[in-house]
Amino acid sequence: MMTVTEDSCGYHDTLAGCCSCEIDRVRYGVEKTESCRTNFIAELAGWGMSPSEIVSNINFFMSVAFAEDGAVKIVEGVSKPGDRVTLRAEMPVIAVLSNCPQEHNPAAGFAPTPIEVIVSG
Ligand SMILES: [Zn+2]
Repeated sequence: MMTVTEDSCGYHDTLAGCCSCEIDRVRYGVEKTESCRTNFIAELAGWGMSPSEIVSNINFFMSVAFAEDGAVKIVEGVSKPGDRVTLRAEMPVIAVLSNCPQEHNPAAGFAPTPIEVIVSG
């Protein structure tokens, strides 16, 4: 559906999924946090889509370590300010971005920062 045409970071996650109220309760013992899942649900509702229609996501710039026993752990990212990814849509797509509001893991240094998104074409 989309092709990565430029990537200045070189490391992204496709296995850890998105944060949600449920997973944040399990991982961090917190209730009702803002999450990527709630962001996806809110945006896709505007497109007439239900939560069950949300597909797997890619976590740009998120680093996930795998232990020998198969456990996964979100670790400090390897990206730097100004890193970017360029995607080319190969067909009409609905691409929903969530600038992860998670402040309980090291993916964004415990302090999410702004992102810039440019849509052209
Ligand atoms: Zn998130």
